[in-house]
Amino acid sequence: MTGGSQGAGYRPVIGLEVHAQLLTHSKMFCGCDARYSGARPNSHVCPVCLGLPGALPVINRAALEQTLMVATALNCRVPETSRFDRKNYPYPDIPKGYQISQYAAPLGRAGHLDIFHADGPDRVGIIRVHLEEDTGKTMHSVLDGRPVSLVDYNRSGVPLLEIVSEPCIHSPDAARRYFAGLREVLVYLGVNSGDMEEGVLRADVNVSLSRGAHPGAKVEIKNLNSFRAVTRALEFEIDRQAALLEAGGQVAQETRGWDEGQEETVSQRSKEYAEDYRYFPEPDLPALTVSPERVEEIRRTLPELPAARRARYVDSAGLSPYEAEVITQDPALASLFDETLSLQPPGGSKAVANWIMGELLRLLHEAAVPLEASNISPRGLSGLLRLLGDGTITNAQAKIVFARMFETGAEADEIVRREGLAQIADTDELAATVRRVLAENEALVRDYVEKGGKTEGPLIGKVMAATGGRANAALVRELIRSLLSPEATAQ
Ligand SMILES: [Zn+2]
Repeated sequence: MTGGSQGAGYRPVIGLEVHAQLLTHSKMFCGCDARYSGARPNSHVCPVCLGLPGALPVINRAALEQTLMVATALNCRVPETSRFDRKNYPYPDIPKGYQISQYAAPLGRAGHLDIFHADGPDRVGIIRVHLEEDTGKTMHSVLDGRPVSLVDYNRSGVPLLEIVSEPCIHSPDAARRYFAGLREVLVYLGVNSGDMEEGVLRADVNVSLSRGAHPGAKVEIKNLNSFRAVTRALEFEIDRQAALLEAGGQVAQETRGWDEGQEETVSQRSKEYAEDYRYFPEPDLPALTVSPERVEEIRRTLPELPAARRARYVDSAGLSPYEAEVITQDPALASLFDETLSLQPPGGSKAVANWIMGELLRLLHEAAVPLEASNISPRGLSGLLRLLGDGTITNAQAKIVFARMFETGAEADEIVRREGLAQIADTDELAATVRRVLAENEALVRDYVEKGGKTEGPLIGKVMAATGGRANAALVRELIRSLLSPEATAQ
């Protein structure tokens, strides 16, 4: 939060409505393929998702299951009966003239998500989790010199989850952490790709500034599809409202949009008159019944969630909270960690974590690919750590081997054999090289002797360079010490 609003004694009150597309094969109420990314406009449509007269919706069972998983993972109460309602509003991207959504009886109520930071967890209350259908997409273009609006219904009817938080968040940073935590849970459950650039996860945020017991007018900012946009839009809005209030003005209750280029919120429509969606129960669909036994079964079969995994890494694997956080950011990375560790001798967790957080993340970042697209496997990483642990290769060589594994998927020992990478641990062979390096670097040797052996680093570096990084560093240090010891130099 920025200075102005704090100085004036205003407290931001923030809530988020997050929309997440579910990863089902077909759409919410018809058999059309829900995976429309890159498809020709209006190629994934049928009478149901085009809203043609007489077409009847059928509930997608997978979408229902996924929603129940999310509701359970977010500690929601799942009522035995829930139902769909019609939300009426006239928009070109809603072909029926209404959206099928859940209003009066959602699938999940009164849950929470704990978000972690340096001071421990912060609990964000969740009012509801409900299921609805996504809208089509309107685009504005120019055709034959005239402005036209085009609409693509491929997205129309894709299952959409809405997760509404309590207005209990008090800073843009906490809002970002909550959104990120929610994304993590959805990705871990395998119900959303988390690919925010594709628009599969978007947030509407609402924010007001309260002063003492006086609540402020609520402003909603629609359609934010990155963590940065959530943070920046809230920062901007808090400053804007604080400046207005300090100048004696009033904040209008309204809906605003976020202009990414200008980095500012812009007024879209006034909320003076609350929208009247004329909700009523969807007559074409039956009510939903979910037994407590079914909810219990879903709870039992949920995968380990990121927060639990982080706690396990800190408590039983001995990782720092930071290491645990980096490794759990992607379920694929966490699986690699778990599976590699299971192939290692006990106590190897730090080494496994270091390789994942260091070389692996660096190479993935450079190649701009997800872990699944690389050739690194638990078996491969474990093989590399074994060669490093028994001294067959040096740390510098291990990095080369790892890069080859990343490219080709070959086993570590095969790469070492093929490229002649094994380290020089033969004392006689190394001693000859160390003698030569000492003879060639008189100044460094003088410095070493004068400072009583405190400057061995540059000499070790010279030997490593002379051997192409293949020398056993511990042995080199030992050789330098003995060759330059007072007894040896006195002779
Ligand atoms: Zn369809």
